[in-house]
Amino acid sequence: MNFLSDLDFTDKRVLYRVDINSSISDGAIADDTRIQAIVPTLKLMLDAGAKQVVILAHQGRGREKSPKTVLNLHAVRLSELMEQEVIKLDACRGVSIPAEAKLVMLENVRLDDEADEDVSKREAFANELSEYGDVYVNDAFAACHRDHATISALPRIMTDKAAGLLLQKELEALQPLLDGDVEHPFTMIVAGAKIDTKIGVIQQFYDIADHVLLGGGIANTFLAAEGYDVGESLKEEDKMELAREIALEIDKRGKKLHIPDDVICADEISEDAVAIDVPIEDVMGSMKILDIGRKTAKDFARIIKESKAVIWNGPVGLAEISSFRNGSEMIARAMVDCEGKTFVGGGESVGVINSLGISHDSFTHVSTGGGAMLEFLSGEKLPGVEALS
Ligand code: ADP
Ligand code: MG
Repeated sequence: MNFLSDLDFTDKRVLYRVDINSSISDGAIADDTRIQAIVPTLKLMLDAGAKQVVILAHQGRGREKSPKTVLNLHAVRLSELMEQEVIKLDACRGVSIPAEAKLVMLENVRLDDEADEDVSKREAFANELSEYGDVYVNDAFAACHRDHATISALPRIMTDKAAGLLLQKELEALQPLLDGDVEHPFTMIVAGAKIDTKIGVIQQFYDIADHVLLGGGIANTFLAAEGYDVGESLKEEDKMELAREIALEIDKRGKKLHIPDDVICADEISEDAVAIDVPIEDVMGSMKILDIGRKTAKDFARIIKESKAVIWNGPVGLAEISSFRNGSEMIARAMVDCEGKTFVGGGESVGVINSLGISHDSFTHVSTGGGAMLEFLSGEKLPGVEALS
């Protein structure tokens, strides 16, 4: 794969795919971390002689134009950070790009055929976009698992292409994990809502991970598979057989699977729900497991601190509500205390770190990708990465 230093930017127009998707509240960007993050790659390309950079990005959900799906605020913020004007266009197709503009931002590509199910529509869109540039650079790791027009179709059309600094950093941080190039004990914390999205990583690391700590909805399914009553907790009935298989495979290799032995329960999911900490045997009836219990959190924290490498994906409880966030906070703090290498990924997990005010520098690597990181660590080829090679 090519990196920035492999490309000749002299007098070139660059098509630059980024992930600056940000939450917008009260008509302002709530957190500009992702916009700040693309500045080094942009500066490097301009310093290397690029004539123009055309920025391709997505924002929000759906294909309807609204204040939450346009990139106007992003362009204003980027202009400030770059100390030069970013010309924002109101469409991403059929536009005429001012030749003298150094920095141009097209409208949210997902408002057009970026993600259309029809492959030929995506290809046609990519073909049109390819006219706007001479070289292609991708820094949108979090979108690399998507077979989208600007992620995979466009780079396949372009001859000169490379990974930007952000994508390079992700790949260089995560590849050693995938290669099993880690010190032991190596601990994985896998939690969150659904087994399906995480199963691949657990399987990929059967022979590498010494400890697999489970929380969230996933842990409930494992608990139910072991015969515990989990009351009305989130669980996946049709995944219980799979859970038993995974437990068996980990056991066979002499590795350790840790499921909670006490849990925080409530009858309802709300800020003022009455939350109680009970041994797992005591869960019944209308109770819902919404976090790991204090004893389990302490055990997990100890294992994490004693590890030489740790990777965490997914909150171990319903972390959006403060009464059910303790387990995830204990994990975040234990990772900070851990002297080994620490990796975090996933929107919600990173959200817990941010809400605690913990700097990302406290970790070896904080991935910008949730789904993309999981797919990469499952050993799957990411369309966006493949298309660059
Ligand atoms: P990530 O985004 O970090 O990859 P997921 O998207 O798989 O993680 O899951 C996160 C979601 O799982 C959160 O919305 C969280 O509230 C939910 N969750 C975690 N534990 C539970 C639980 N015990 N019951 C219900 N929902 C849970
Ligand atoms: Mg999520």
